[in-house]
Amino acid sequence: RPRVLSGIQPTADSFHLGNYLGAVRNWVTMQETHDAFFCVVDLHALTVGPDPAQLRARTRASAAQLFAAGLDPERCTLFVQSHVPEHAQLAWVLNCLTGFGEAGRMTQFKDKSLKQGADRTTVGLFTYPVLQAADILLYQADAVPVGEDQRQHLELTRDLAQRFNTTYGRTFTVPAPHIVRDTAKIADLQDPGAKMSKSASTPNGLIELLEPTNRIVKKIKSAVTDTGREIVYDPENKAGVSNLLTIYAALTGRTIDDLTAAYDGKGYGDLKKDLAEVVVAFVEPIQQRTRMYLDDPAQLDKLLAIGGEKARSVSSRTLARAYERVGLVAAA
Ligand code: ATP
Ligand code: MG
Repeated sequence: RPRVLSGIQPTADSFHLGNYLGAVRNWVTMQETHDAFFCVVDLHALTVGPDPAQLRARTRASAAQLFAAGLDPERCTLFVQSHVPEHAQLAWVLNCLTGFGEAGRMTQFKDKSLKQGADRTTVGLFTYPVLQAADILLYQADAVPVGEDQRQHLELTRDLAQRFNTTYGRTFTVPAPHIVRDTAKIADLQDPGAKMSKSASTPNGLIELLEPTNRIVKKIKSAVTDTGREIVYDPENKAGVSNLLTIYAALTGRTIDDLTAAYDGKGYGDLKKDLAEVVVAFVEPIQQRTRMYLDDPAQLDKLLAIGGEKARSVSSRTLARAYERVGLVAAA
């Protein structure tokens, strides 16, 4: 079985529809066909300076949502990044192989640091993609299921793996991106040119899996649409309506063509009303199961401890090999 690894940040109380359709949904399918490792990347979340109690709560809530969405501890390895110290350890080695300019070219860093201002931007945010490379390479992943927004980071991971292998001898598998075309990018409902994002979207642009369903309905009804009245799929010129169609198709399994045919002659209001129903029906069971996991934190922590152990059995071997390759003396 090919190996996959992917991660998600505990940077919000709830995941959003973009996280689900762009990432989590594929994870659930991949656990059947792949040797799958998934992690809640709490070390990455530190780059935005979260409140400690909030980070702890969000880390557990993230894991709960992943189990609720269908990740099965018997079929995949789900763990918390900080439970596996090798991530930070390998990241250091890779930091020493990464060019300063190379890291500076990452567009997510440029975007996020621009928003924060130079004085508030941390070195952690700067080296974030290097830690991400460590996350992936530790598991010798063949593929990394991610949204379109992560393509550049994955390219860096591949470069670092190749550089390490060339310099020190073959050590890491060079991973391929696994990007699911149709839903690779879900847009912000209020700003359809931008991606839906936990940390960067306006509250009304974001559909959270765990938010009250009446709020979801309101947000969909007030989603920005476009001039004109026809329901057509045209991401260039009608980004708002196209985004709604993408979500609709992804959640129902219907094709875009089928949907545009069905809404021929109808208005944006009809589309939004029906889509709101589809989304509510989708989130309700996830909300219920998430609550079930959160109601028993001891059991949740136990599942995560098991995942952490499984992860370490792989990551410790890779780290030992990498340390040896670069010339660190093994502890006696
Ligand atoms: P943050 O704003 O904190 O970076 P995020 O919403 O970008 O949060 P991440 O935790 O960085 O979420 O990413 C988790 C996964 O979700 C990644 O695989 C990423 O590609 C995917 N993802 C994030 N936003 C979207 C989106 N709008 N559409 C599709 N996939 C997305
Ligand atoms: Mg992100």
